[in-house]
Amino acid sequence: MGTPGRAFPNLFKPIEVGPHTLPNRALMGSMHTNLEEQGEGGLRRLAAFYAERARSQCALMVTGGFAPNSEGRLAQSAAFITEADAERHRVLPDAIHREGGRILLQLLHSGSYGYHAEIVAPSPIKSPINTETPREMTDEDVERSIQDFVRASVIARAAGYDGVEIMGSEGYLINRFTAPRTNKRVDRWGGSFENRVRFPVEIVRRVREATSSDFIIMYRISVLDIVEGGSPFEDVVELARLIETAGADVINSGIGWHEAPVPTITQAVPRGGWIWATARLMGEVGVPLIGTNRINTPEVADAIIADGRADIVSMARPFLADPEFMAKASAGRPETINTCIACNQACLDHYFTHREATCLVNPRAVRETEFTWTATDRVKRVAVIGAGVAGLACATVAAERGHDVTLYEAGKEIGGQFLLARRIPGKEEFNETLRYFRWRIAESGVNLHLGTRASEAMLAGFDEVVLATGVMPRVPDIKGIEHPSVMTYEQLLSGAREPGRRVAIIGAGGIGVDVAVLLVERDHKSHIDVDAFRTTWGIDGEAARAVAPVHEVTLLQRSDKKMGSGPGKTTGWVHRLVLVRAEVDMIGGVSYRRIDDEGLHISIGGNDRTVICDSVVLCAGQEPVDDLAELAQHIIGGARMARELDAQRAIEEGVRIAASL
Ligand code: NAP
Ligand code: SF4
Repeated sequence: MGTPGRAFPNLFKPIEVGPHTLPNRALMGSMHTNLEEQGEGGLRRLAAFYAERARSQCALMVTGGFAPNSEGRLAQSAAFITEADAERHRVLPDAIHREGGRILLQLLHSGSYGYHAEIVAPSPIKSPINTETPREMTDEDVERSIQDFVRASVIARAAGYDGVEIMGSEGYLINRFTAPRTNKRVDRWGGSFENRVRFPVEIVRRVREATSSDFIIMYRISVLDIVEGGSPFEDVVELARLIETAGADVINSGIGWHEAPVPTITQAVPRGGWIWATARLMGEVGVPLIGTNRINTPEVADAIIADGRADIVSMARPFLADPEFMAKASAGRPETINTCIACNQACLDHYFTHREATCLVNPRAVRETEFTWTATDRVKRVAVIGAGVAGLACATVAAERGHDVTLYEAGKEIGGQFLLARRIPGKEEFNETLRYFRWRIAESGVNLHLGTRASEAMLAGFDEVVLATGVMPRVPDIKGIEHPSVMTYEQLLSGAREPGRRVAIIGAGGIGVDVAVLLVERDHKSHIDVDAFRTTWGIDGEAARAVAPVHEVTLLQRSDKKMGSGPGKTTGWVHRLVLVRAEVDMIGGVSYRRIDDEGLHISIGGNDRTVICDSVVLCAGQEPVDDLAELAQHIIGGARMARELDAQRAIEEGVRIAASL
């Protein structure tokens, strides 16, 4: 092994933050997991989660958000800091310090975004993404809230945290004070710029006064609000200077309010797609600046620092995907990193649906204490059939545990459904998961047989057979289904069939929506090219410039539920917006009558209609491929249950079975 960090010399260049010298320039940014709400048990699990990342050279990390007071909670049951936390939280910083890392407590006052009846804001203006209207804070409320930030910081210090991050972005309370959009006050906390920023500046000034000089104060500034009535850039620069003068050691970037109609971290955002917003602030302040959003590889992180677009890079989800991200980068082995694919499916989508966050590509994330496996003391001969992600996860973990594993794959490549999904704009990131599994197969010694359909004879002699043969597209029983215009999504995505200009899609689930996005966006670059992204989404003050759709698409489903968003809570609205802007005709409540040369004949509410089209793409769900079920002791992924299959469940099932062998 060469000199540690040599492959990414900029990322591994030490940096001063306040009186501390950090050994590298990666920050594990704040990520709420829902363990924050689970008292001492939750804190113990969080300690294990962060400690694993600190052990692998993540030098500085920030916890999920904790409110400084009860009004600032994110939800009725959410965490806020009380005196008891000085003792209760100790387990967390202690665990990180034992591994040589540093951790800050994030103080987040939800303001208008809290889901409870006590929410407050500078002015009683309802957020478009909440049903509750906040109560306008009195002068006493504002003063008390500043004190609560100070009190919570003092408690954090007593608990052993190395500092706090004061959350001033994303449209939470502090951001609502600084932006004219939501601050209509006429007292000393509103009106002029000086009055609007008084709240955050006083918080930082008084936290600094109440804590020691080695206590790190990080302030998360909204470098870009992306909402009408947000702060102009000149105000952002001036606020950053005032925050520095007030005592902050380092300034982190926040991009866009939660109510901003622009994707900020989904797969629609190119890698490093927002770093320009931080870069504009570089040189305006003396303290280090942290850049953020969609930075998921050491290559991107290193280039950002090399180009002077930020002093430090923040990554949150990439550390869920791979706790050893920094250690692997330091060793010059980036090809061994389990890369975050920006799907949000198991992290943010879980958080926003009140489930514990974890990671689609790493089911151990946030479950480090319960999800463990050890080397086997009885080596078994294990056959895994199918090298989709369920089979890959199972085969590699089993081999890493010491079993003698053979993996049969009928196709020419590993990947299963990921080979198809990676054709969707933004899902090119799935290639990274396949690259990672290729490395793990080689490293763990799995005997991989590509182009090999397993047979009964081949399976004789194995101690354990795991069936992971996945799914095939469902072909619905519609008159004319054999018409030459009809193709499955598999035929379309694999490139085996090319659709005509006018396309009708049967089924508007996750795959139907993905196929529709592909058909309208297939030649667009906005998910990989930052300039194209900025013009497509109208980020520079100009109106969003919708690009002409490549195909004319009609998306259909039988049920009458809302269409066009697919399964993701935090990503569905982006898909829907893309389809609406591309004028995709979304028709629900249909019954399919027949397919012929004219197109797809349907009826809606008893009225017949014909969707004139050149091609019909079937996205009507899947059926399991389980022919060899009788020979297998274990069936996982889509072969076990095709309904509501998702990659997260497939990978987790693979890992759990492998851990039990
Ligand atoms: P799906 O989400 O279950 O959707 C299947 C669609 O087909 C539904 O719109 C259904 O709507 C329709 N359908 C079902 N049976 C039909 C029939 N006999 N005739 C006509 N239409 C029929 O399945 P999927 O889209 O194939 O996705 C598979 C899995 O992958 C899902 O669990 C999905 O969540 C997951 N996925 C996730 C993502 C992601 O980004 N997270 C992306 C793609 C897929 P009606 O019954 O109303 O017609
Ligand atoms: Fe990244 Fe998806 Fe894992 Fe979230 S669930 S950390 S977005 S790979």
